[in-house]
Amino acid sequence: MDYGTFFLTNIATVTVFAVSMCVLAWYNRRVAGMIWFAGALITGLAKLVLQGLEGKLPPFYTDLPANELYFISFMMQWMGLRWFVVRKRLPNPAPWILAAIIVIAYPVMFLARIPYSANVLNVPFVFLCGATAWMLLRYGRDAFLTISRVTGAILIGQMTVAAYRAVLTNEIYPRPWKTVYAQADPRWDYSLAAGAFLAACMVMCELWFLVTELRRELAAQVRTDPLTGALNRRGMEEAAARETARSVRHGYPLCMVMIDIDQFKRLNDSRGHAAGDRALQALVNLVKAHLRSQDVLARTGGEEFAVLLPDTPVAGALLVAERVRRDVEQLEIAFDSGPIRFTISAGLAPFHPAHGFETMMRHADAAMYAAKENGRNQVLTYSAREHVAEHWAANGSNPPALASG
Ligand code: GH3
Ligand code: MG
Ligand code: MG
Repeated sequence: MDYGTFFLTNIATVTVFAVSMCVLAWYNRRVAGMIWFAGALITGLAKLVLQGLEGKLPPFYTDLPANELYFISFMMQWMGLRWFVVRKRLPNPAPWILAAIIVIAYPVMFLARIPYSANVLNVPFVFLCGATAWMLLRYGRDAFLTISRVTGAILIGQMTVAAYRAVLTNEIYPRPWKTVYAQADPRWDYSLAAGAFLAACMVMCELWFLVTELRRELAAQVRTDPLTGALNRRGMEEAAARETARSVRHGYPLCMVMIDIDQFKRLNDSRGHAAGDRALQALVNLVKAHLRSQDVLARTGGEEFAVLLPDTPVAGALLVAERVRRDVEQLEIAFDSGPIRFTISAGLAPFHPAHGFETMMRHADAAMYAAKENGRNQVLTYSAREHVAEHWAANGSNPPALASG
């Protein structure tokens, strides 16, 4: 295939990629990484068009801006990938300031007719590919682990091609202001084709990043209660399976606190459903403020919440529950028709490996109902002795002797 045909096919393909990426970025605007990818592809397309004009216009208007756009395109690609795997804002603009210096230095050196000036751009470009690959391999994890590794491998490929072409540039274009018909050199052509192939692989990876992100979002929604943002029952069950297994494996203490709003029906009836909803949201915010990152909060019923406290003995869990109860008692939620106030009752139970999660939940529930019966606005801990005694008393007979200890 001749050079011109290769370029036209390549431009057509990259146009399809760029348009598709723009459409996807538009429909997934909250996925900021996609906007960077779309920007990178548009910049890459502009680079190809300029590169295609090589030989038809002086190098200052074709080669030079093409190389600069390629560098900028890879900076954007790096930002997009960074959004997916690092999820933090750039701590400072240093990389972009450095990029700007490089992008300005090259044309200055070009105009000053300094030989080998393309290295100013080409060497940092190789470094940028390597740094992006390193970032993916270092930070890509969980759902993004596989895709980060695959993309990292492609970037190492891109780095290799870039390094090879940087060496070739010094051989073919030692004086970049001179028009040279490098198309005659097969090393230049084949490395260009290899670059185009890897760029196409990269686009597929970028789509894979988007699919992974959307799957992650969906999975999070399935586990979340939309009103309060707490986990729902499914989320709690998954967390429970994880935490009970950990507790059994390592012997860590694990506690559950069941929380239920007192007289919630009355609040709903007197102040309206919207006020009830506000109370639920405020309660979740308050409880979250008292929890550590590993603690799990879920809405298990209408106005009923379960808190799972890993690595926490009963005394510690009681302290947390009591603080929450006291703060809820003092909480005043601003609302149109006047401040909303309410109280909670809570029941606490420790996890016993021999009994399992369901039993802990039932015990916490029993303790919570005992707190209701005892007058509400209090925290009670499940005690096997009392509950067994109560059960037998309710059945009008004496309990069998309990093993002491
Ligand atoms: P107790 O102190 O014994 O717990 O009494 P209670 O009124 O809180 O308990 P009950 O179970 O009788 O009432 C629960 C109420 O919660 C009934 C239902 O209308 C309300 N509820 C359930 N889900 C929602 C919700 O999403 N929003 C609002 N506003 N209310 C809800
Ligand atoms: Mg209630
Ligand atoms: Mg209830």
